[in-house]
Amino acid sequence: MSLLVRHRGGVLLVSGEFAECRQIDTGGSGITMPDATTGFKQTLSRSPTGDLPLKMAVQRSGRLTQDTLDLLHAIGLQFESYGQRLFSHCRNFPLSILYGRDDDIPGYIGLGTVDLGIVGRNLLHEENVLVEELAPLGFGYCELVVATLRDAPFTRPEQLLDARIATSYPESARRYFRELGGRPEIITISGSVEVAPSLGLADAIVELTATGSTLLLNDLRPIATILESQAVLAAHPEAMADPAKRANIDRLMMRIGAVQAAKRYKYLMMNAPEAALPAIRAIVPGLKAPTIVPLADPGWVAVHTAVEEDAFWESIERLRAAGATEILVSSLEKLLL
Ligand code: ATP
Ligand code: ZN
Repeated sequence: MSLLVRHRGGVLLVSGEFAECRQIDTGGSGITMPDATTGFKQTLSRSPTGDLPLKMAVQRSGRLTQDTLDLLHAIGLQFESYGQRLFSHCRNFPLSILYGRDDDIPGYIGLGTVDLGIVGRNLLHEENVLVEELAPLGFGYCELVVATLRDAPFTRPEQLLDARIATSYPESARRYFRELGGRPEIITISGSVEVAPSLGLADAIVELTATGSTLLLNDLRPIATILESQAVLAAHPEAMADPAKRANIDRLMMRIGAVQAAKRYKYLMMNAPEAALPAIRAIVPGLKAPTIVPLADPGWVAVHTAVEEDAFWESIERLRAAGATEILVSSLEKLLL
């Protein structure tokens, strides 16, 4: 059975299996989805462990791609990602990876075409699809903001309730202003939204910004933040409800958690006079408690502990003041808490 789904950028023909999903009318955007003849079926075969692979969509080429691939490799997944691949099959985990346009990923997850996806929260918000956000991933940080020309008389979004707004996020903009009680005219533009106000096309824009430099270059200033965004791992609710899939999603989540926790901490080793221990323990209490090993010199100990990256330099200064010497710092690769 086939189902036609109208979706941002085109119409998807979805027929049961991912292998037969392809975009039939791109309307200017989108990739050609793999179909049965391109061999994706191979990826649906059972893995050596007997599991049906999970399917995960990631951005094929863009701002999220490198960090996404780095994360997947850091959690131990082995797969090829070079060239113009449409999909990869993990050699050591029941997971198939589909490379797509980021705009299409919320739709794929929402429809259950894939079980999982890595995508900016901004796109989940825009598409308003029914998906479960499982974890923020700590990259792709940006904000969806309302911005106006620096010398325009607007300082609050409430002044724009019946204004003209240019955006590539029309649904997010519409919803935001509707909640404020307004119905501005929304002009959907797919690129260079920032030039719309200076061209006289719009009074304000709703656009993503990370550093604010593009806004600044176009004489724009943000006056409100609609959404704080980063890349997230999201899942189709039915995948979460399927015990076999859920077990493998939990395995992936555990690994992602370990990689993220490792980034939050540094491993510290130092020597200290025994008398300094109470002060040192108060500064770096460790994950449970520090490891304390006597040195060959009487009255001295070595202290091994973990310290949060955020408080790192401040802790080091206080440790030195408390009498710690020979402080050795190393990064962690994985940390299972
Ligand atoms: P695609 O070809 O996949 O459609 P794109 O050009 O639409 O890609 P990118 O510019 O690669 O998308 O952005 C992908 C995601 O990166 C955004 O949806 C957003 O979550 C995040 N992002 C981080 N910083 C920025 C920024 N300064 N501008 C736009 N997106 C950003
Ligand atoms: Zn896109």
